[in-house]
Amino acid sequence: MSVKNGAPYDDNNIFARILRGEIAAKTVFENDHALAFHDINPQAPVHVLVIPKGPYVSMADFAADAPAELVTGFFRAVGQVARQLGLEEDGYRILANAGMNSHQEVPHLHVHIFGGKPLGPMLSRA
Ligand code: AMP
Repeated sequence: MSVKNGAPYDDNNIFARILRGEIAAKTVFENDHALAFHDINPQAPVHVLVIPKGPYVSMADFAADAPAELVTGFFRAVGQVARQLGLEEDGYRILANAGMNSHQEVPHLHVHIFGGKPLGPMLSRA
């Protein structure tokens, strides 16, 4: 198990298992650096997750430790997926949770891409 910025990376988290092919996912895009698949519990008409192919818990870990080609490949994949999903014209939202205050559930860096309807305010005011 590798340790990233004090937070252990759990090799058995669900997205690591998806990357190893142990759990099925509805893949929409894959390249050497990233995998994109539909969220199992969609919160918008389009809700896709994009994950890097590497053991990173958060954006901070990824930005600090990932090789440059992985950082580039991942972010190119995020943009390519948004375009491939046909979201550019009407717009979309990208969100990445990290840690307790954000309610990050899966400790493998992922960005959510939401679209397909007006998405409302950026954050709950509750
Ligand atoms: P977060 O709260 O940012 O960690 O989001 C984790 C997301 O992963 C949630 O939106 C879940 O619905 C989604 N999720 C959990 N397990 C799976 C799975 N096996 N396949 C696809 N999405 C998943």
